[in-house]
Amino acid sequence: MIVFNLGCENNHRFEGWFASNEDFERQSGSKLVTCPLCGNANVSRLPHAPHIGTGGKQRPASPAAPAQPQQQYANVGKDILARMVEQVLENTEDVGPAFPEEARKIHYQETPERRIRGTASREEVESLKEEGIEVVALAIPAHRLGKTH
Ligand SMILES: [Zn+2]
Repeated sequence: MIVFNLGCENNHRFEGWFASNEDFERQSGSKLVTCPLCGNANVSRLPHAPHIGTGGKQRPASPAAPAQPQQQYANVGKDILARMVEQVLENTEDVGPAFPEEARKIHYQETPERRIRGTASREEVESLKEEGIEVVALAIPAHRLGKTH
């Protein structure tokens, strides 16, 4: 079998399978080869366009779709993290389990804006985020837990 790239008078392109070149000539001469899209019988062979220019390096496809957002990591050392935590501890008010409630009050300006920290369940954090309240998870070293200011 031979595959020919064929085109009709209406610029439709399609593939035709034939036993041989003569088979194609015979069938197209008898108007037996018709365009599958419009039925046009004036079908001619096209140069093997799909194979032109594909030799060598493959060109990059259209601009890559934006990648899925990924978790971000920083390779800061442990001491920097510890200092960050210290800063947060020094500059936030520990409201404990009242954190979601207090965070909401601050967000809706029912209480003076201030930095707070505390505990919240994953569900509470999710609903805070849905309300547009920014919270970050804090990894507080065990030796700092339970310490009150
Ligand atoms: Zn056609």
